[in-house]
Amino acid sequence: MASTQTESTGNATAWHGANAMRVRIVGAGVAGLTCAHAFAERGAQVTVIDRKSGSGQGCSWYAGGMLAPWCERESAEPIIAELGHESLAYWREAVPDVPNEGSLVLAPPRDVPDLRRFARRTDGFQWVDGSRIGELEPDLDGRFDQGLFFPTEAHLEPRKALAALTRRLVQEYRVAFRFEADGLDEEQRQPEGADGADLVVDCRGLAARDTLADLRGVKGEMLVLYSTEVSLKRPVRMLHPRIPVYIVPRGDGHFMIGATSIENDERGRVTGRSMLELLGAAYALHPAFGEAEIVEIGADVRPAFPDNLPRLRKRGGTLYINGLYRHGFLAAPALARRAAEVAFDGAYFPEVMDEDHRQW
Ligand SMILES: Cc1cc2nc3c(=O)[nH]c(=O)nc-3n(C[C@H](O)[C@H](O)[C@H](O)COP(=O)(O)OP(=O)(O)OC[C@H]3O[C@@H](n4cnc5c(N)ncnc54)[C@H](O)[C@@H]3O)c2cc1C
Repeated sequence: MASTQTESTGNATAWHGANAMRVRIVGAGVAGLTCAHAFAERGAQVTVIDRKSGSGQGCSWYAGGMLAPWCERESAEPIIAELGHESLAYWREAVPDVPNEGSLVLAPPRDVPDLRRFARRTDGFQWVDGSRIGELEPDLDGRFDQGLFFPTEAHLEPRKALAALTRRLVQEYRVAFRFEADGLDEEQRQPEGADGADLVVDCRGLAARDTLADLRGVKGEMLVLYSTEVSLKRPVRMLHPRIPVYIVPRGDGHFMIGATSIENDERGRVTGRSMLELLGAAYALHPAFGEAEIVEIGADVRPAFPDNLPRLRKRGGTLYINGLYRHGFLAAPALARRAAEVAFDGAYFPEVMDEDHRQW
């Protein structure tokens, strides 16, 4: 039986337990793991539960890992940049190997007006000419006349970062991980279900649509190429009239090319048209990608609310972190910190919480 150790303070509820708060986190994607970190840092006793192979089954597995709050301002609300700056600082401290090389935005000569439009909608960049592009990325020397350089952005390798964070959670914070073949059903997700918990945090991504009815899926397709003929230090976005494509160096000759953004929830199905677009952009960046080996093709579905902004929501004894859309790595750590403050201190964050929070 779960022990309730919360106390109402006006409209909010704050934690006043003498014992550690027992938190069960359902879902080991980027939302679940960063949330486990935020709660464990506050002294909670955390268990993370996922399906059998954990993060390998979620959207986080397919992410590019760009930590690009300035670039995202081009199409996202200011709150995403705000969460992104906080998360960027988090990743630099939380996991090893976060290259601080910035990012580069380029366009073929015929699409330079797109570059100017991109520049008008964002900030934190320097205009760079062909020779500066060549200094930053010697393999692109002479290929582009103009670009935008965002020096304070970064990137990470999502699969390695999630593995490193999991190790840290186990070794440093004694977080327990459980993998159930089919995941947890609704009954087991209740606080009194499974081993009992004071709070359940639901980080199931799109699977939480069974409870969060306004959640929708936005498919993203990606591929990984291997080439020893080209090297890049930082992510490069290629502006394109239909889909902006990015190429993220993963080290050892590997490059992640992403990503489409398609309004459907067909998990795993990759179309020829999408591959043509992604490969075309890689080839336009450097013809050596035409000879590259295709190592992986993948797709998953981003969980998104109608306004594409993330939310913390509470229903009964469960706190939901969801709607991370294209910004899982960019926004999850900042959202996780807020979630812990909601649970421990009764905090309210209007930028990510619904107005009906007082009914919690
Ligand atoms: C191609 C692509 C590229 C992307 N690139 C970027 C990028 O560069 N930068 C960025 O910030 N974001 C990027 N994103 C977005 C990012 O991947 C998502 O926002 C993020 O992964 C969502 O994380 P999540 O933890 O909410 O969901 P998920 O990663 O889907 O995790 C949900 C977890 O819940 C588990 N689960 C589900 N049901 C149950 C159950 N009943 N019981 C137990 N466990 C369950 C699943 O197995 C899964 O592990 C990209 C997405 C795609 C598809």
